[in-house]
Amino acid sequence: MKQPIFAANWKMNHAPADATAFMRAFLAHFGKRQDRSVIFFPPALSFGAVVGALKDRPDIQLGVQNIYWEDKGAFTGENSATIARASGAKYVLVGHSERRHIFGETEEEAGKKVAAATRAGLTPIVCVGETLAQREAGETEQVVLRQLRAALGTVSSADAGNAIIAYEPVWAIGTGKTATPADASAVHQAIGEELRRILDSGSLAVPILYGGSVNRGNAADLLAAPEVDGLLVGGASLDAQGWASIVLT
Ligand code: PEP
Repeated sequence: MKQPIFAANWKMNHAPADATAFMRAFLAHFGKRQDRSVIFFPPALSFGAVVGALKDRPDIQLGVQNIYWEDKGAFTGENSATIARASGAKYVLVGHSERRHIFGETEEEAGKKVAAATRAGLTPIVCVGETLAQREAGETEQVVLRQLRAALGTVSSADAGNAIIAYEPVWAIGTGKTATPADASAVHQAIGEELRRILDSGSLAVPILYGGSVNRGNAADLLAAPEVDGLLVGGASLDAQGWASIVLT
């Protein structure tokens, strides 16, 4: 039985007071469980409020949505992996499609962020995914595996083995379109094979999450798909009760 991971990417939503109210409502629906992991990615300025709200719930983990790759210095507006770690984060999203496509982040930059996260003791959740045009051109695997190699190529295979991967087709993020469980499984399988090559290991402990318009109606089927180890959820993680029902899938 796999222990599923449920990761909530709040993106640029929930100011501190909303975040606190969300947690109060969510915790009322979600008691402590050993059989699944829950990770929240609040916006940086709401991070402290969520740390406070979760002080009695060490079973729930926290991550940041982004880091800069330098450890400290004159980089106005940025946060480092060391600051994130010291603030209570254990995870960081790297290469999210909104970072790649809205903010122009490159594959090389994703690699630098994985290296910075690893140095600071954060687990990177490396997001990979193809655009609709790339899917229609039959380039899904090529694009996803190239993004994967670029992101993990900056760290040792032992450190790469501590990462988490999220397959998030760009055309499915925030669009209401979802990959079918079979499509997700096929890409997850290709990612798994590439990871075995990168890690030079037959067994694979790196979880591979699916993300892209997951909701209460499709979460169970996606999670039941072979090779899907958890879900990375944006829009449907913003409502406390709705998110609790997905986490309890
Ligand atoms: C995401 O932000 O990673 C995501 C998958 O968003 P949504 O669930 O809204 O598609």
